[in-house]
Amino acid sequence: MEVIKAPRGTRDVLGDESWKWAHVLDVCRKTADDFGYSEVLLPIFEHTELFSRGIGDTTDVVEKEMYTFIDRGDRSITLRPELTASMVRSYLEHEMRRMPQPVKLWSAGPMFRYERPQKGRYRQFWQIDFEILGVSNPMSDLETIDTSMEIYRRLGLTNLQVLTNSVGCPKCRPVYREALKSFISSSPGGLGGLCETCQGRFDRNPLRILDCKIPRCKELTESAPSMIDSLCDECREHFDSVTRGLSRIDADVRIDNRLVRGLDYYTKTAYEILAGELGSQNAVCGGGRYDNLSEAIGGPHVPGVGFASGIERIVLTLEGQGVYIGKKPEIDVYIVTASVDAAIEASALAHELRSVGLAVDLDYARRAMKAQMKHASSIGASFVCIIGGDEMASGAIGVKNMKSGEQMSVPRSETAARIASWGEEMVK
Ligand code: ATP
Ligand code: MG
Repeated sequence: MEVIKAPRGTRDVLGDESWKWAHVLDVCRKTADDFGYSEVLLPIFEHTELFSRGIGDTTDVVEKEMYTFIDRGDRSITLRPELTASMVRSYLEHEMRRMPQPVKLWSAGPMFRYERPQKGRYRQFWQIDFEILGVSNPMSDLETIDTSMEIYRRLGLTNLQVLTNSVGCPKCRPVYREALKSFISSSPGGLGGLCETCQGRFDRNPLRILDCKIPRCKELTESAPSMIDSLCDECREHFDSVTRGLSRIDADVRIDNRLVRGLDYYTKTAYEILAGELGSQNAVCGGGRYDNLSEAIGGPHVPGVGFASGIERIVLTLEGQGVYIGKKPEIDVYIVTASVDAAIEASALAHELRSVGLAVDLDYARRAMKAQMKHASSIGASFVCIIGGDEMASGAIGVKNMKSGEQMSVPRSETAARIASWGEEMVK
């Protein structure tokens, strides 16, 4: 029988990497606290309708990428592909409108999308997600961009580029939609020059044609009219405030006319943050404003803005840029024992050393002392405590400093203090 493997597009994040994730999440949590976001733990599955209405059924995510199934109660359930719709649902369900506005929320966890797996693109991946709900002030758009940049700054990432655009609102977007459609129709290749997917998008969601990664579609729309030129006064003013604010934060910002969110409830600001180290999956963050999303899922008007950033891509960028984020936590002390009695003594000693804050591990496999010593050095233990026959008889413990090779016999009651002072010297 073949051994069962993890499903395609999923991966086990093992100990040599998972500590980096914990570090990223620690930085996010601290930044969230410093910026006044509170954490919400959201369900991993939701009613399918939340996403088909809240992301939009002409998007790739809803059309092709969702993990949807009928549960035993005959409900259509979907593993969440993103968090914004759930955040807004939670805001509505818990009547957060009654709280002082805006409400700033954040969350993190695994998302699920049926995509073609490649580096930086998985079927299960983690996102952090930050949202500001209840206000339409452009300064809140700026605050979300600043939040994400602050997280990256604290992590030590550099060379990030912020791309921004405005996708207008249901008032001005139809004007642009028509301008784009007539540009495409009257271009030399015409509609037929586009890929099949884009031909399908032409009537349903033409803005997404600008988002197509296929070279001939990119080429055809290269000199397409820019959304910025079609903005209504309100959207233009909003966009100007955001770009003026962005010029004051320490970031490389570029206006990108091709950056779109094709649906009516995405309004005004759209942004992405790119990291060159990621190759073709170069977006580390995607965000924007969605003033009409709440209504799309059956709620009252609740403006909102926020972003999501992929943890795998953050970690890949950290590695790609060679950022030093500390070391995998190591064991301070490994206890080597020679007999069953010594092992019992060892577990009492381990308890004592751990209670003063040392990281301790010991042998359970009753291996030879030499094998135990080898294990201690392979896991990078700084000290080894040895409890052999002599030590059992004398009540002392052999302590070996693995870095210097120095070894001494220490009275049992002084072991913790001796290791601690040796440790301090090593730090010096
Ligand atoms: P892309 O264009 O790369 O598919 P997207 O526009 O679908 O990204 P969003 O829905 O805006 O991405 O999600 C925000 C962030 O989540 C992305 O910028 C990326 O960092 C991360 N992300 C999205 N999809 C994946 C995936 N399949 N695997 C890993 N990370 C992902
Ligand atoms: Mg995608």
